[in-house]
Amino acid sequence: MTRPAAAPKTHAPNLDELSMLLADGSRSTIHPSDVKGPWQRFKLRIWVVLIAIYLAIPWIRINGHPAILIDIPKRQFFLFGATFNAQDFWMMVFVVLGVGLGLIIVSATYGRAWCGFGCPQTVFLEGVYRRIERLFDGNHVQRRALAASKWNLNKTLRRFGKWLTWLAISLVLSHTFLSYFMPIRTLLEAITSPPSVHPAAFTFILLATAIIYFNFAWFREQLCIVICPYGRLQSVLYDKDTVQVAYDDVRGEPRGRFSDKDRGACVDCKHCVAVCPTGIDIRNGTQLECVGCTNCIDACDAVMEKIGQPKGLVRFASQGEIHGEARRVIRPRTILYSIVWVVLLGAFITAVSTRKSFEAKLLRQQGTPITRVEGKVQNAFMLHVVNKAAEKKSFDIRITPIPGVEVTQPIPHVDLEGFGDVRTPIFARFEASEIDRNQQFEITIDDGEAPRTVRQELIGGKR
Ligand code: SF4
Ligand code: SF4
Repeated sequence: MTRPAAAPKTHAPNLDELSMLLADGSRSTIHPSDVKGPWQRFKLRIWVVLIAIYLAIPWIRINGHPAILIDIPKRQFFLFGATFNAQDFWMMVFVVLGVGLGLIIVSATYGRAWCGFGCPQTVFLEGVYRRIERLFDGNHVQRRALAASKWNLNKTLRRFGKWLTWLAISLVLSHTFLSYFMPIRTLLEAITSPPSVHPAAFTFILLATAIIYFNFAWFREQLCIVICPYGRLQSVLYDKDTVQVAYDDVRGEPRGRFSDKDRGACVDCKHCVAVCPTGIDIRNGTQLECVGCTNCIDACDAVMEKIGQPKGLVRFASQGEIHGEARRVIRPRTILYSIVWVVLLGAFITAVSTRKSFEAKLLRQQGTPITRVEGKVQNAFMLHVVNKAAEKKSFDIRITPIPGVEVTQPIPHVDLEGFGDVRTPIFARFEASEIDRNQQFEITIDDGEAPRTVRQELIGGKR
């Protein structure tokens, strides 16, 4: 009789191996134990607000338009009352750089505060999916036992209840996500129509739901550890003054059992390890896998309270603080980052506030910009007017008269729908001998608010 293969062994958290991997390279599911405490309550309040904002924004309208809408097929973007079109896309440079630099400032000062408190991966995994898992599968001991048990009625009911609830939530999240890219009314119409009416939206929902479900039901902490580039960047952003979740080794070591006489404050109970969602031991120092979730702070504080010692053996502290230095949040690098961030913010505000509500360009006709007609020189132009506002606008097109130049202008006035544009040809004809070489040809486009003048040089003049 052949003996069944031994189950791969788990290992104690250490700096050389990932806790989520077994020795044979397979996944070791982490079942963090439950933890209560002030940081958990604080995080929960933040998560409730963030989730409510995420779900509510697509329903909010400002000036008759969605509060946030990135309509890529129509190249129309709405942001809290401001409207943008594709020509404004360059402003995204400021937004992307500003967000990136903002995260760098947060990391340099408060470590992975973003990961632990604001990142959607944490908010939805810890704030929603893991809570549902606890509801169906029980605490970490029960979850482990259920995972190892054979399939029976109890396990089937629990598993299917959990999976269906997760699926329903994943559908809500994917539909909400799509409503940032598709007006909510169109989305509601798509939901109530057959998939063939909106095939792209239907495919998007299927894919997004599958990705969200896979990520929160199975992939989990691997996203933070293996995929997230921000997590990988952390180590270059930290220095000894960065405040982050840290174990006070000065106070805690040498660790030992409660009854040991010469031990430090750490009683080696490993509660901080048991609650860690990435399975690490914070006592091994700053690690890439730490997402700053603060679970170990609350777990250790509860232990300290029980054994009558001051809290804060694991706490938000810099390495400098732990070794007796004062906290230094403001330092040359954080000042420099902040100055660059303020400059970026200023540039973005200037760009948005000085943004024109329409664009006008006078271009030479492609192919034959200059021809001879009835012995005269003819310049052919193309005027392009773009309404960048979401509302309908009217434009007068006025050409500055030049003695000796006959102008053919098919449309002197144009009405454009929101985000609409028009291209209209314009011809200027003249005797070559009567016009200077550098003569400017001017057109004013007037929307009744802020007229704009565009120019081109007339070519073919001789004087
Ligand atoms: S070490 Fe502490 S703060 Fe870091 S991920 Fe684990 S429990 Fe969270
Ligand atoms: S919870 Fe606190 S006392 Fe227990 S092992 Fe962790 S650091 Fe030590």
